[in-house]
Amino acid sequence: MEEDRAPSRAGGLVKLHNTLGRRLVDFSPIEAGHVRLYTCGPTVYNVVHIGNLRTFVFEDVLRRHFLGRSERVTQVMNLTDVDDKTIRGAQEAGLSLGDFTAKHAETFFRDIGRLGIQPAEHYPRATDHVPEMIALIRRLEERGHTYESEGSVYFRIATFPDYGKLSGIDLEQTRRGDRVADDEYEKEDVKDFALWKATKPGEPSWPSPWGDGRPGWHIECSAMSMKYLGERFDIHTGAVDNIFPHHENEIAQSEGATGQPFVNVWLHAEHLIVDGEKMSKSKGNFYTLSDVLERRNDPAAVRYLFLSVPYRKKLNFTWEALSGAAAAVDRIRSAAVRIAEVSRAAHRAGGFPSAERATEFRKSFTAALDDDLNTPEALAALFNYLREVTAATDDGTLDAEGAVVAREALAAGDGVLGVLPAAPEVLPAEIEEKIAARNAARKRRDFAESDRIRDELAERGIVLEDTPGGTRWKKAGSV
Ligand SMILES: [Zn+2]
Repeated sequence: MEEDRAPSRAGGLVKLHNTLGRRLVDFSPIEAGHVRLYTCGPTVYNVVHIGNLRTFVFEDVLRRHFLGRSERVTQVMNLTDVDDKTIRGAQEAGLSLGDFTAKHAETFFRDIGRLGIQPAEHYPRATDHVPEMIALIRRLEERGHTYESEGSVYFRIATFPDYGKLSGIDLEQTRRGDRVADDEYEKEDVKDFALWKATKPGEPSWPSPWGDGRPGWHIECSAMSMKYLGERFDIHTGAVDNIFPHHENEIAQSEGATGQPFVNVWLHAEHLIVDGEKMSKSKGNFYTLSDVLERRNDPAAVRYLFLSVPYRKKLNFTWEALSGAAAAVDRIRSAAVRIAEVSRAAHRAGGFPSAERATEFRKSFTAALDDDLNTPEALAALFNYLREVTAATDDGTLDAEGAVVAREALAAGDGVLGVLPAAPEVLPAEIEEKIAARNAARKRRDFAESDRIRDELAERGIVLEDTPGGTRWKKAGSV
């Protein structure tokens, strides 16, 4: 498994903590210089909470770090727009599944845009990929991993000896033939799980070789990741609560169908807790990004707070910690402003070894991120550097030329951290939001609105292309 990997392009090796095997591994992509990354996306049945957003920011930093190392990244983030939760939510709201999920997809894109999360290359929606899911279940069927019961198809875990290798569950506890129809269940309940669910009254359904029905949640991610990234790819991420059953089942489905390893490295972000307690609606400590921004309108501070704790540690969200994060962001911003001023100033003594210090900073910053994405360590490197540079602006030893070097070093660091104000341009997340709104309009057959959105984007130089895999966008004039 190790021999066929090519070395990474820039710098030393990136070390990542692989949940599969629970150890730190030297990462190198299957194709040199190209990282293929699947990040489990939102189930669009509610407004995502800040715990979900912590995971998405971690994935964004991972992505930006590879880009900063001059690697190409292909990131796929799915939108689960049909599963137990979305169906229940749509029924309760009295909306069609499409209208219900479009609304939540829109707020999702709004929230990740506000946090400066770079858009993934693909945002496949489950409802657009049912044929791929059916094809994958057929492959599992041919290889003897499934059985049918009353129009539903189940994965027989006894046919996959590696079952449990990710989560470490004890298969001895399971009773052969016990099965579970729900998408979510606990470790203690390890059972044969549903790949395809027979239709129920009032539920959306698709035709299949087993009769009308709908996919189970887990098969969605197997089918969509393999479609966009290949049957074997580099990194798959999610939150720790995805390890079982979701990712365990994804491995069983994908490896069961292909007979080869599915993913090289699995990464999982720990939970976010609030004031030391699990976030829950009943405790009143459940926050969406809007809740937080209402009290303190500083998305960069939220992002910084997420980065101040390593992704594998629980993050304790408190208002005090958020204030601390806001103060830290202010320090970075005012340092950036002062450096910019000096870069335009004349007649300064000089003498500060700007190039050397910038190189040292870049090295230690990258080394921290190479070490399983140690963001607090990277922030420490940044503040060390900014302390030196601002001291040199105070005593006049930083000259204009040196300030240009410092400005570039800071920009490179912020390319990963993403806390400095962005250049006023059309943000990709904003475009994704418009596309989601346009899809919603098309679903309710409001073609006037859908055309209006298309024209509005065209005016801003963004061309939309409708493909079987969803709507894509590009800048006018680009290929
Ligand atoms: Zn998933």
